[in-house]
Amino acid sequence: MISVAEAIQIVRQQTRTLPTEEVELNHALERVLAQNVVADSDLPPFDRSQMDGYAVRAEDVREAPARLRIVGESAAGRGWHHQLEEGQAVRIMTGAPVPAGADSVQQVELTHELKDRTVVELLESVEAGRSIVQRGAEIKAGETVLNAGTTINAAMMAVLAAFGYSTVEVFRRPRVAVLATGTELVAVDQKPGQDQIRDSNNYSIGAYAELAGAIVERLPVAGDETSVLKRQIAEAAERCDMIVTSGGVSMGVYDVTKAALKELDAELFFERVALRPGKPTVFARLPNGTLVFGLPGNPVSVSVTFNLFARTALLAMQGATEPALKHETAALAKSVKGTSERESYLPVQLTTNDDGELIAFPLKWGGSSDFVAFAVATALVIVPANVKTIEAGSLISVVRLP
Ligand code: AMP
Ligand code: MG
Repeated sequence: MISVAEAIQIVRQQTRTLPTEEVELNHALERVLAQNVVADSDLPPFDRSQMDGYAVRAEDVREAPARLRIVGESAAGRGWHHQLEEGQAVRIMTGAPVPAGADSVQQVELTHELKDRTVVELLESVEAGRSIVQRGAEIKAGETVLNAGTTINAAMMAVLAAFGYSTVEVFRRPRVAVLATGTELVAVDQKPGQDQIRDSNNYSIGAYAELAGAIVERLPVAGDETSVLKRQIAEAAERCDMIVTSGGVSMGVYDVTKAALKELDAELFFERVALRPGKPTVFARLPNGTLVFGLPGNPVSVSVTFNLFARTALLAMQGATEPALKHETAALAKSVKGTSERESYLPVQLTTNDDGELIAFPLKWGGSSDFVAFAVATALVIVPANVKTIEAGSLISVVRLP
């Protein structure tokens, strides 16, 4: 049995980044950059006023109040492109270029205009440089402003737009097929008969995969027939970069996922991880390169194993530099119990206390089948293997659930 860290390492080693594609800026949100983004101009591109007010020479208003002659107006998009001389002021708006010769802007609240608006009185002096953002103070042309591997968020959309990226090179989104196995399963729109339950895993897996940037296809529920499963996997592999199955990986008579994968000549990288819940997790690759995650059937195990392993592969495929869930540290609000030989990932809700510390509240739950209780978890705390109890108040590693 390998550790969770080793399994994640194997996932990263065996995952190739997908080819890149060019998308319109409007479709770039949440995509992973495949190129560095470089400023094509200084920012600001000219000395820019931060205030509505008057552009002046600071030395002309050293003694306030001081009166200056208004010689022009500089508005955003329509600057005043002359030399400002001694004793002059230019009315200026936020975002407008500061005229040559001016070295400061006095805000309008500290001024008033006189004599048919041809003279302005500045009520206070102003030091040189005030309320001006110098050309290039934020970014210089040629600087890299976003690095390849970054997931584009809403604020970065503005960065791309500002530097003229009407299209942007990103990694292709992975295509993922999800497939639930189990003779007991019926589709969501059916009433379960005797001994049956509705398939719920396809929906959580599909949703987590979408959150990880994938284009998801939900296949019809498969029974526990190796031949049927084999056919479905083989067909899906033709269109998909990854297949995620659930169920059928334990030691029972009807646990057919591994048999199907072997008959398809898949290379199995691991089939047991020292993890609770989620020990019988399978990671394999089909001869055509499609990755397969065979997750256990229990809905909670599905959420844990998907996010530890399959999510990591999906982000790595898209070129993310840090694809695995990030470890943070929180204080435990209640004690938790570990188990021998396996690392435990237990559901908690994360909050902060008044001192700003991260606090993990373990959920009351009935174990790895209790997906209703699990649904309100926001994170998982990690109890190392062979640790009996971690007491309330102790610091503990956590990973946030997407
Ligand atoms: P298995 O790993 O196939 O032995 O399944 C373990 C448990 O998870 C059993 O109780 C299954 O009925 C349940 N289970 C398996 N697949 C699903 C699914 N798609 N949706 C809901 N529960 C499932
Ligand atoms: Mg089953």
